Amino acid sequence: MHNVIKKKAKDLGFDLCGIAPVHSLDDHGKRLKEWIEHGHHGEMAYMNRNVEKRIDPRLLVDNACSVIVTGMNYYSSYEPEKNQPVFSRYALGRDYHKVLKDRLHELLAYIKESRPDTKGRVFVDTAPVLERAWAVEAGLGWIGKNSMMINKTLGSYFFLGLIITDAELDYKSVENKDYCGSCRKCIDACPMSAINEDRTINSNKCISYLSIEYKGDMPPGYEEKAGRRVFGCDICQEVCPWNRKAPETKIKEFEPLPEIKSYTSEQWKSISSNEFYSVFKNSAVLRTGYNRFMKMLL
Ligand code: SF4
Ligand code: SF4
Repeated sequence: MHNVIKKKAKDLGFDLCGIAPVHSLDDHGKRLKEWIEHGHHGEMAYMNRNVEKRIDPRLLVDNACSVIVTGMNYYSSYEPEKNQPVFSRYALGRDYHKVLKDRLHELLAYIKESRPDTKGRVFVDTAPVLERAWAVEAGLGWIGKNSMMINKTLGSYFFLGLIITDAELDYKSVENKDYCGSCRKCIDACPMSAINEDRTINSNKCISYLSIEYKGDMPPGYEEKAGRRVFGCDICQEVCPWNRKAPETKIKEFEPLPEIKSYTSEQWKSISSNEFYSVFKNSAVLRTGYNRFMKMLL
């Protein structure tokens, strides 16, 4: 069944797929609790909720036995011109939540064809699940010093989507090796010094968090360090040697929106609220809202 599921995941457009048996993620849970205790989650109060569920998926899905972890490459080699604002690569195309969820539901339906009693839930970045920890358990790669999931073939520009199911599947032993070695390019390149030596991110300093989630005043020097970044930040991925050969995404939905490719800073600055909501109606940028987006452009 393991290989059958992997083959189906590939047919559905996923680049990576692995399966891990469910257990309590005690080590990751300990690190998560320390991260929260240090206040490194900023205003993301939701990180402080359901911590036990994050650690043990059996509290999320009754009789959970297996975690199927998929990865989907979103890398586009598009580079903005000097007069254009910079969006994080994951937000160049359509919102990944729906793209991945639709395919994961198809994968779950496929499993049910041969095992009709199977129950499961699909997770894409919206529920209390430690996605990266499960990706490591399923053999998709390692968590880099920049806290991103890294795969030797894809690099780190890929989304994770999970199915937690009560189906008992066959599991393969996985390598679980860390290939960061003595490299510290991401730590040295981060303009905000937001990467902690213990491979966690201090969200209070991170441009990604500050430009998307944070509602308050920016820390001193933010504008200069963030430059033209209006939604997210990829600096610690751009410098990572494992992304040097990142392949182009095969998923049409992740191709950059035509407006992102063509609009100049001046055009964005004069965009109306209606046009903003029309351009980004199927994009992750939508959640930042018009007023906040306009503030980031200044
Ligand atoms: S996303 Fe940007 S600001 Fe955040 S840790 Fe990476 S390089 Fe630093
Ligand atoms: S830049 Fe170097 S240290 Fe940072 S995640 Fe990549 S390989 Fe690891």
